Amino acid sequence: MATYQKLKDDMSVCDGDRIGGYAMACRGQVYRCTACGATGCRQAKDHACTKQAFTVAFKCYACGATGQYEALASNHAASKSAPSTTERLANTD
Ligand SMILES: [Zn+2]
Ligand SMILES: [Zn+2]
Repeated sequence: MATYQKLKDDMSVCDGDRIGGYAMACRGQVYRCTACGATGCRQAKDHACTKQAFTVAFKCYACGATGQYEALASNHAASKSAPSTTERLANTD
């Protein structure tokens, strides 16, 4: 339960695994493609993480756009798409 809570609290941190020889958590900064909405971390090498979304040049794996990204902020700054929006939607039904 503690792990799940931590993942919820740390949405700006990649929870993927590093690929290649040694298995370890990525914990990298997560970015979102502003062109297609894909999210994931950025690695210096291609396919270095199970949840990598951007190359070192910030090219999106999903749509191929380059430089169309924004860093996902931590809880404090991520008020744009806050969980409260989802809760409000659920309450109206
Ligand atoms: Zn990652
Ligand atoms: Zn994209």
